[in-house]
This record gives sequence, structure tokens and C-alpha cells, in this order.
Amino acid sequence: MAVNDSPKPQETLANLLTETRHFAPPAELAAHANVTADAYREAADDRLAFWAAQAQRLDWAAPWDRVLDWDNPPFAKWFTGGRLNVAYNCLDRHVLAGHGDRVAIHWEGEPGDTRTITYAELLTEVKKAANALTALGVRAGDRVAIYMPMIPEAAMAMLACARIGATHSVVFGGFSVDALSGRINDAEAKLVITADGGFRRGKANALKPTVDESVALCPSVEKVVVVRRTSEDVAWTDKDVWWHDVVGGASEEHEAEAFDSEHPLFILYTSGTTAKPKGILHTSGGYLTQVSYTHHAVFDLKPETDVYWCGADIGWVTGHSYIVYGPMSNGATQLMYEGTPDTPHRGRYWELIEKYKVTILYTAPTAIRTFMKWGDDIPARFDLSSLRILGSVGEPINPEAWMWYRETIGGGRCPVVDTWWQTETGGIMISPLPGVTSTTPGSAQHALPGISADVVDDEGNSVPNGGGGYLVLRDPWPSMLRTVWGDDQRFLDTYWSKFKGMYFAGDGAKRDDEGNIWLLGRVDDVMLVSGHNISTTEVESALVSHPSVAEAAVVGATDPVTGQAIVAFTILRGETEGGDELVSELRNHVAKTLGPIAKPRQIMVVPELPKTRSGKIMRRLLRDVAENRSLGDVTTLQDSTVMQLISDGMAKSK
Ligand code: ATP
Ligand code: MG
Repeated sequence: MAVNDSPKPQETLANLLTETRHFAPPAELAAHANVTADAYREAADDRLAFWAAQAQRLDWAAPWDRVLDWDNPPFAKWFTGGRLNVAYNCLDRHVLAGHGDRVAIHWEGEPGDTRTITYAELLTEVKKAANALTALGVRAGDRVAIYMPMIPEAAMAMLACARIGATHSVVFGGFSVDALSGRINDAEAKLVITADGGFRRGKANALKPTVDESVALCPSVEKVVVVRRTSEDVAWTDKDVWWHDVVGGASEEHEAEAFDSEHPLFILYTSGTTAKPKGILHTSGGYLTQVSYTHHAVFDLKPETDVYWCGADIGWVTGHSYIVYGPMSNGATQLMYEGTPDTPHRGRYWELIEKYKVTILYTAPTAIRTFMKWGDDIPARFDLSSLRILGSVGEPINPEAWMWYRETIGGGRCPVVDTWWQTETGGIMISPLPGVTSTTPGSAQHALPGISADVVDDEGNSVPNGGGGYLVLRDPWPSMLRTVWGDDQRFLDTYWSKFKGMYFAGDGAKRDDEGNIWLLGRVDDVMLVSGHNISTTEVESALVSHPSVAEAAVVGATDPVTGQAIVAFTILRGETEGGDELVSELRNHVAKTLGPIAKPRQIMVVPELPKTRSGKIMRRLLRDVAENRSLGDVTTLQDSTVMQLISDGMAKSK
């Protein structure tokens, strides 16, 4: 065990977990990889020249004068003076290059209806939508809110905005009136694009009523464009127009205008895992450069042969960067799925992979742990041999879940790329490269070429291998956020005030003896037990490594003796029964795996954990429960009844 004898509180994060497994890249993949180890050398020699070379992946209408303008840090400008159209880069140029017949989207509705959309068809629809938005009065720089199910029109709406220079703000189509109206008002959106509803869990899930209630609270909204998806009855106001009327009747001719490289592309609010969501602003040239390059590098995409599938919702940054802008700028063929993984049965994901011969899958640890809980026999019924690369994003992936993903889904042959990034970073920052990196379960490993990530102590000094601390980014990167919408001060305070000249990500991390980076959860969640800083992630991973635990969330609660004590909430696997005996076994298991310092004071067996809509555990709410406080902001919570169940259980166990 590597706990220091007398660490200064807050200075280091104890390094409790050891992991020695390694998996070399498959030889065949390495031999034909899009990106080799040379990229690290090139970027190290001249970072800006490296990014300038990656920007050549795109078509620019006018060249840039400077790669990076960092004259007024931390307000970055990339590729200044350059002009481009983001939608042109995602669509027109592929069609002009003769790839118009390539499938852009294999879409599968939850009830099983399907659509196949080629690049040429997608381009036509986006041109029509661009004309329709212009006819409705939307101009470059205006904000458009998009509140949609996972249907192709969601991507079309985003690309149509990009095409005319309108800034979109996509709001996840499961958010409440509070969350939607708050986001519309914050961005002062002029138009809302929505649908009557979508299909989820076997039923039509209406969206329009939430939009109607929200728009009544949002004076900036002039028009609402409604896609017909479920055909259920909807109330109609004088602001509403049907997508099939306004887009259906629009001209197919539309010339894309080039915009400045720093033209605002979108605003997207963070998940709200730790606090009130922040409206993160992304711009055009640098953003598209990095998402295009990272999608090419991390997923090794071969546009002629791969079928790529990112299971995220378009309402999250993963959907923006790795369903729309990254893959489409690279001319990828992808699967888009409307529904949930358990409808109509728990094998739905694997059935879709078999049906479309998906080669690259990108999903989240929360989904992987759910699949583990459901049992290995489900994926075993499907042919998953088309898969060649597996990606993970959203939370730290426990080594146990990583191994399950690699073995059970990837048949032991597919590299797992654990990608660390944030809404704020716009694109992937830390990840293995599938043809280069020898992977290690649970670690995101290295900063990508051109990215300078570091782990530092309280004073901002790099920690040596074996040490832990704060994750920071030392140099600006092309797809970095430009500010928090309408709130430069919050941008400065949140990200740039903790360490001088460095971006503070808010996540704890450690560097192992080989220099691999491990993400250890949010700094706000780090526990201070008897003078030792302990990460929630490591204790959770230890719990999940016990055969009866499917998921775990750990928090530090005030304790008179130890300062903070570890309180764990666990969901058991399959049919396992809880009880005092199991709880004591689990406490001992953690102590044995990580050391006695990490032994939880209390373990609660719960039916569910509080999660954001994007599936991330909201530890701050569990901390509120563990410390008997009233709950903080719950607007981004997936299921509000969960907290009641947990509080009741907590009260009983006292
Ligand atoms: P908020 O900032 O409002 O609290 P959020 O941080 O959950 O919400 P996102 O931008 O969606 O919003 O998530 C980024 C965060 O997700 C990262 O800061 C990190 O904590 C976590 N994360 C994402 N990918 C990984 C990963 N591969 N490993 C570990 N953590 C990850
Ligand atoms: Mg965050």
C-alpha cells in the first residue's frame, strides 16, 4: 500500500490501487493504424505546427494568419483570420469528393423502424433546413435551442444552424421545464427546434408539452419548429410550425457561407454533476480541427469500411463531438439509435451491433456496469465479431468493468480506449491510441499528441510518478472552451484561478509508476480520512471488484474521530441478497484490497444510485444524505424518486 506516512492534508491523493495488467495493441491494427508513435514526437517538437498540420484535414475558405493567439490569456483564439463553414466540412466536401452515396447514418428507431441516409441525402436535408431557418428569421450569431429525441433531424438541425452561422444550444430531450427554460433564457434563443416526442422504453414520450410550458417562460423565443415523430396529438400555438412544412417546402439550393474561425458554433451546458450547469461556448475552426483529428486518431476510423457507433445522446458533448462533428467531418458511416438499451429486450445493443456489423463502439461506464449486472449470457447470444475498437467516456471506468468490456464484448481482441475529456475541453484530451498504446485496465493513460496534461500538487508542481493530485492542462488546445456564455468571470474563477497559467479541470488524478494517468473522480469528492486524501474512485473500484457488487458510489461524511469517514452506497449484482454478513464482508474486502485506511464506516445496499441524465453518479446528493442535509440542485437528476428511497434506507439503518 502506498499511503504516505504523514501527508500534508490536501497535498497528495493517496495511491491505493495497483494494476499491473497490460494489453499490447493487436499487430494487425498497429500495422495499419491511422496514427503512430511519430505523432507524439512531432507534437513535442512543435505543438503549434502539429495542430496547424491537423487543421489541414479541413477545407478552409480563407487561410489563417496565426495558429494561436494567446495574447490575452486565458481567452484563446485559434487559426485567426481563417474562414470556414463547419457544415460544409461535414457534408459538402464529401459529396464533392464523390462519396455522396456513402451511408452517413443508419438510423434505428426504438420500435424497430429504420432509415438509411447517405451523405448526399443528408446534405440536401441540411440545405433545406438552412433555407427554412433563414426564412424564419434566424441570422448568423442568433441562438437556436434544440430539444429533440435521437432522430436524424437532431443532427440535421445542428448542421443547419452551423451552416448559417447560428449558434445552437442543444438541451437533452429528457430535461424538465425548469432546465429547458433556464437554458433557453440564459442563451436568449430566438427559435426552438423540437419534436412531438420520441420513443423510449416502449412508449411515446412527449416533448412538445415541456416546450410549450418553457416557451411561455421565455420571451426571446419567436418560433418553434416541430418534427413529427410519434404522431401523437400536440397542442399548437401561433409560434409553432411543422418541420415537414417549412423544411419540406424549402429549396434544395443553398450555398454555405464561410465564417471566421472563432465564430461561435454552439453553447452546451455541463452535466450538472457538481453544481449548477455552466453554458460552455465553443467556436468553429479549432473545435472542428480537434474533434476531427481525435476521432481519426483515437478510433482509428477507416471511413470506407468502419461502422461506428457512439451510444451517447446528442444532448451531451459526446453526441456533439463524436456523433455529429468528429465523425461527419471524417466522412464516417455511423449507427444512430433512438431508444434505451433494454427495449424491447436487454440484448438490444448487441443485436444492433450484429445487424449493422458495427466495428467501433463508444459508450459510458454506467452502461457497461449495467450490462455486467444483467449478465454475460445476454451478449453471448449475438455475433459481436465485427467489433475492433471499444471506447469509454464519462466517468472513471473501474478496472473490473474495463476487463469485462474487453473480454465479454470485445472477445479479448479489441483495444479499449478510455477517453478523458469534458464539455469544456470539446474533444478528447487523454486516451490511449489503439495502434500504439499498451493498455492498462482503468487508466486513460496519456495525453494525446499536442495536449499537455499534468498532475500537480497544491502549489502547482508536477507530482512524480507514483504521486497524486490535481489534473491540469498546461497549454491551450484548439477545441478548448472560449468562455462561459455571458459570464467571463465564472470562466476565470472556475478554471483559471486555482493555478496560475494552468487550466484546472476539477478532477483528481494520479500518475502511476509507469507514468500512466489515472482519473480519480472530482476534486470536490475527494475524502480526507485521518489526514489521508482518498479518492472515491479507488474505493468504488475496490467494491466493484467484489463478485456481488454491480455498482458503488462512495462519499466522505463528517466524522468526529477521523474528520471524514467513508460511506458507501452499493447496488448488488443479479439476485444477490444484502444483509449484515455481506456488508461486513464488503468492508473487509475494501480493507484488504486498498488498506485499512480505506475501510468504509458504513455500507448501504440500495436499489439505485442518483445519476445525472447522462448517467453519472451525483455524489454530492449522497453526501447531503450521509450528512443529513437538504438536497442541493436536483434539476439534472434522472429519477427524483431515487433520493427518497435512499434517504429512507439511510434513516432505517441508523
Ligand atoms: P458539471 O461540470 O456541471 O459538474 P460534468 O463535469 O459531469 O458536470 P461533463 O463535462 O459532461 O459534465 O463531464 C466531464 C467530467 O466527466 C470530467 O471532468 C470527469 O470528471 C468525468 N469524465 C469524463 N470522462 C472520463 C474518463 N474517461 N475518466 C474519468 N472521468 C471522466
Ligand atoms: Mg465538469
